[in-house]
Amino acid sequence: MERAAVPPLSSVAICGGTHGNELTGVYIVKEMQKQKTDKVGSVSITTVVTNPRALDAGTRYTEMDLNRCFTDVLLSSPVTESSPYELRRAQELNAQLGPKGSAEAVDLLIDLHNTTANMGLCLIFYSIDWITLHIYKHIQNKMSSVPVRAIQLDIPISDAYSLESVGKHGFAIEVGPQPNGVLRADIFNMVKEAVDLTLAWLQEFNSGRSYEGGTVEAYTFVRSVDYPRDSAGKITAAIHQDLQDNDFKLLRSGDPIFQTFSGETLKYDGEDLYPFFVNECAYYEKKIAFHLAQRKTFSFPSIRVKKD
Ligand SMILES: [Zn+2]
Repeated sequence: MERAAVPPLSSVAICGGTHGNELTGVYIVKEMQKQKTDKVGSVSITTVVTNPRALDAGTRYTEMDLNRCFTDVLLSSPVTESSPYELRRAQELNAQLGPKGSAEAVDLLIDLHNTTANMGLCLIFYSIDWITLHIYKHIQNKMSSVPVRAIQLDIPISDAYSLESVGKHGFAIEVGPQPNGVLRADIFNMVKEAVDLTLAWLQEFNSGRSYEGGTVEAYTFVRSVDYPRDSAGKITAAIHQDLQDNDFKLLRSGDPIFQTFSGETLKYDGEDLYPFFVNECAYYEKKIAFHLAQRKTFSFPSIRVKKD
């Protein structure tokens, strides 16, 4: 495979609190602000608590989900004082860290999230991006305390709705299981380690080290599955105990997926796929019981920094 030269990655944004009740990122960012970590070697660091109003309220969001506001359409829509807070906040963040798709955007944007699902540590990204794949491989090689995986959402960048799409490169770090509004030290340490490994990788990359190409496994989103519902739209079943906590364990036709409240087991019927975000708390309102993915192998070339 070819060898690629990539411009230096000299600005990075580390964001937390995009969902106000996912606390790991909030306290990582606040600690970095307290320690005045605004530069590591050649990399300048911007840290942002992105949804302070939701954080104060202890909720995911106040008026609309901030992490669904970063599409080109919403970022360019007119806003007034009566527009939802999160839509206004998304445009502020886009002005501060982007604008999305522009030369002024931060080189790398990392947004820190938690999930109530048993997903370990996942990088979530949109386009096939060599920088993200290299960092993913690096974190996967270095971290042994937790399974490290990646999820690709195959959405054009203009329709990409989450904050990390504002950077020239970007990914979310999604770590769980952690209940909303709760901090767990083990999860905190995992995210801190992943952030530190990323910052160290960026410094070495900028200083001219070349990184060999290779392959990584990642999961690509296929579809979502909703809970069974009655005619009034109320759920009639819970995630089956055999599926609960078994994110990324291959789901085959005939495997139990739901247990109705009357005690009946409902089985999966479809192609073999990998479930993730199983029983994510925030997805009840989105009518999602779990997502399904395929596992794919992604290749990436050797890279080094482009010197002018
Ligand atoms: Zn989140």
